[in-house]
Amino acid sequence: MSSPSPRVLAVIPPMTQLNTPYPSTAYLTGFLRSRGVKAQQVDLALALVLELFSPAGLAQVHAAVQALPEALHTPQTAWFAAEFGPIAAATPRVIAFLQGRDPTVAHRINTRAFLPEGARFASLDAYVDPDADDSGGDPLAWAFGALGLQDRARHLATLFLNDLADVLRDAVDPRFEFVRYAESLAAAQAHFDPLADALAAPPNLVDATLQRLTLDALDQHRPDVVLLSVPFPGSVYAALRIAQVIKAARPNVVTVLGGGYVNTELRELAEPRLFDFVDYATLDAGERPLLALLEHVAGKRSKTRLVRTFWRDGEEVKYTNFVEPDIPFDDVGTPTWDGLPLDRYLSLLDMLNPMNRLWSDGRWNKLTVAHGCYWKKCSFCDVSLDYISRYEAASAEVLVDRIEAIVKETGQTGFHFVDEAAPPKALKALAEELIRRNVAISWWGNIRFEKTFTPELCQLLADSGCIAISGGLEVASDRLLQLMKKGVSVEQVARVTKAFADAGVLVHAYLMYGFPTQTTQDTVDALEYVRQLFENGCIHSGFFHRFACTVHSPVGMNPAEYGVTLQPLPADGRFARNDIAFIDPTPTDHDGLGQGLKKGLYNFMHGIGIDSDIRSWFPVRVPKTTVPRRFVERALTTPR
Ligand code: SF4
Repeated sequence: MSSPSPRVLAVIPPMTQLNTPYPSTAYLTGFLRSRGVKAQQVDLALALVLELFSPAGLAQVHAAVQALPEALHTPQTAWFAAEFGPIAAATPRVIAFLQGRDPTVAHRINTRAFLPEGARFASLDAYVDPDADDSGGDPLAWAFGALGLQDRARHLATLFLNDLADVLRDAVDPRFEFVRYAESLAAAQAHFDPLADALAAPPNLVDATLQRLTLDALDQHRPDVVLLSVPFPGSVYAALRIAQVIKAARPNVVTVLGGGYVNTELRELAEPRLFDFVDYATLDAGERPLLALLEHVAGKRSKTRLVRTFWRDGEEVKYTNFVEPDIPFDDVGTPTWDGLPLDRYLSLLDMLNPMNRLWSDGRWNKLTVAHGCYWKKCSFCDVSLDYISRYEAASAEVLVDRIEAIVKETGQTGFHFVDEAAPPKALKALAEELIRRNVAISWWGNIRFEKTFTPELCQLLADSGCIAISGGLEVASDRLLQLMKKGVSVEQVARVTKAFADAGVLVHAYLMYGFPTQTTQDTVDALEYVRQLFENGCIHSGFFHRFACTVHSPVGMNPAEYGVTLQPLPADGRFARNDIAFIDPTPTDHDGLGQGLKKGLYNFMHGIGIDSDIRSWFPVRVPKTTVPRRFVERALTTPR
């Protein structure tokens, strides 16, 4: 017998980000409402942090610190115990300030006498410019300039909250961090045992707080179905804690796990114990599987007609994929933030670099220009998976309709386009439509540095509100860029990034090291290219990450083509399967070199040491660079 359409609650589990809602629930809620489903959403990541740092939460942390045996105290817990009074008094003001509700407290914060300062404040010394003789004894002065009152206070307030997070880590839960929580329990874990053990442990203060918040959300929304969206391994443990509470308190509520983590790591799921916590796990774009599942829950569809869905049958995990077309990107509806406390997010300022701060500072409406990637060739990328391989664009008219609806709903005009690589053609059409309709927004997003981005197009994008872009320069070596099928050269990246920078757009480069066959010389040369890009004003920030081989990438699928051999994964693994170790016969000390890359880049981002010999950044002996000293300068002046 069929029942009425189920009520749905989409949950953002801890931890994701604190400055703006992670977009998955906004997408799903918008889509489900467009199909007439009663859908609500809740951000338990933000709620958890606000609760732990509320007066009552801090009192409980204080009790936990006081209960610690002497031998287990750390410098952070000792600081917290000694300064608890001023900490408890300052925290509500810091939270209100970071939420944008009490800006004048910046003056107090900047006195450096208002906030008790723990170990995190020692990092301020890292910003001292060794060559500056006019910093007047204040390490922040050169970085903020005379006018940075709010930014300066925001940075100090962020350090204060980071100190509090460290206290939670040391006194309550060693796995606690703001942007990831208990990540190692889920990341590339072939076996479920570490998660199962952690979930069987008695709840600590963080767990108990999350439990209370979950029950409150159930009481408020009375859902029939709860969607737990897990984008990263660092949100899996908390999602399953939430699911555990739901199973105990409301066994009839159907729980569903989905999101980026499931899509990449759980594709070969065979672990029945996961279903002690959730009833279903769905793969890839959630819209179609959810519609099918809701029909099933309403008694209108059998289990054999579920779409891309894992479920448990006795002790066996079943995967059902009754093939139905996905919802076209044009028809997925407009995301909605309705129900999320938009005035309660915390604008944190971890990094002073103007581009880096965009990720943690300010509330951005998140939107996708197109589904998937139009290039889908890079050999390190999950090109075999739906989130990359299924490319579908929406028309500029539809996108600007969505933008206008979102501005109307949220009252905020900042947009982060969260595409893996937004297509230049679609961005051009979008910019023209924004300008045609006179829609004033600011936006930023991720692209490929391809030659279609001419100076004229970069200017058009800037005119339409583009304030920043990021893209992959990856290994910064033409030989390796070719091997990884990135479809760009260093010279071309220099021209494109310069065109954006000249149009007043901030540019961030994603960088990589440790790619198969990468030599020490390649790595030294990469940092020299990066140095020259900073020197010539092409890029403003970057991030070097270590190459990781995934089973869904071309390197993972055809390792011999890249000169590496894969280490076997555990044969009895029934849970996550994504990253895979490999053996590269090229004798390169990537650990040692990685330190040099990160140190050099960090300093370049703060305008330090751009003239120095590139070798000075590495802790190990490295050869001289083979890159001509004026390579980038020449690339920029040579006619194309
Ligand atoms: S790395 Fe980026 S550009 Fe390359 S295939 Fe993946 S999403 Fe596309």
